[in-house]
Amino acid sequence: MKIVLIFIFQLQFICCFSQSELQSENVILITLDGLRWQELFGGADGNLINDKSYVKDTTALKQLFWKPTAEARRAALMPFFWNTIAQQGQLYGNRSLGSQVNCTNQHWFSYPGYSEILCGFSDDHRIDSNDKINNPNTTVLEFVNRQQGFNGSVAAFGSWDVFPFIINEERSGIPVNAGFKPADHPRLSEHEKFLNMLQRQIPSPWATVRLDAFTYHYAMEYIDEYHPRLTYIAFGETDDFAHEGHYDAYLKSARQTDEFIAQLWDYVQSNPHCQDKTTLIVTTDHGRGTVPKETWQHHGSKINGADQIWIAVIGPDTPALGEARHHEQLYQNQVAATVANFLGLEYTNQNPVGEFVKSAFK
Ligand SMILES: [Zn+2]
Repeated sequence: MKIVLIFIFQLQFICCFSQSELQSENVILITLDGLRWQELFGGADGNLINDKSYVKDTTALKQLFWKPTAEARRAALMPFFWNTIAQQGQLYGNRSLGSQVNCTNQHWFSYPGYSEILCGFSDDHRIDSNDKINNPNTTVLEFVNRQQGFNGSVAAFGSWDVFPFIINEERSGIPVNAGFKPADHPRLSEHEKFLNMLQRQIPSPWATVRLDAFTYHYAMEYIDEYHPRLTYIAFGETDDFAHEGHYDAYLKSARQTDEFIAQLWDYVQSNPHCQDKTTLIVTTDHGRGTVPKETWQHHGSKINGADQIWIAVIGPDTPALGEARHHEQLYQNQVAATVANFLGLEYTNQNPVGEFVKSAFK
């Protein structure tokens, strides 16, 4: 009897120990479509901000974003990243310091990038277009949703109307509010009803992408009502403004998205159900070109550097190391396992997946 009791005690001890290792109970994964590491780590690009073909009012834009040093420029562009994540979390991908993050997929455009982020591997032959085709692969969202204690506690929000297919909403059962879909769950708030009306009334500049403010507020209302354990929020504007060659709108959108993330973090850290128990992971689906300079508008396998991306992490389990300053190579396929690992889950898939980012954990 005594032996059995000791055995049970030891089991409980091991169990409690492994649970108390991680403080994160919730993860929020965020992506900014095609935001270059060059702007994230260096702020506004002097070659582009002074080019009248990309900027309507150079003086006004420079007042907002032009500063004498790269450090000051990046803090003006993305203050939450540089005043909060850099102080309390980690940022990977500043290639001028030797920290590199790359796609492993060979396409360097959105669907393959998001699929790699969410599935943890690339599938170049089957995932080779942005067409609205249900992803044959399962994502970490679907994996987490299947685990005990997580079912029904995963949700996704996106500005681009292809996300229901990337996440395979049909098979996975994960609610995906994306494109121009209104909020349609059973407990709609007054804000959501108002957003649904505005979304019908405000024309989007694009046929397949809505303005990010809708995505942000739909996500926040849902988080506040349901407290999902895993939420994915995919912002889209930066890529569309870049394709159109509007460097002013691209920068302003990056600045606004930074503010959305700051407000989200403020909400997280001031609500008892998620305070000090939530990790944010922020990344991008692909990079863009730099040389020749007009390639900043584009990406895809023919654009040099469009596979260069970045990852940022902040949360209770992440050492406050700031910007990675050593030579290290990370890949897009490591995000999925990192998300799962923060939730105390070992991510597996039918294909081998990239391993979680070890340095993001204490
Ligand atoms: Zn694009």
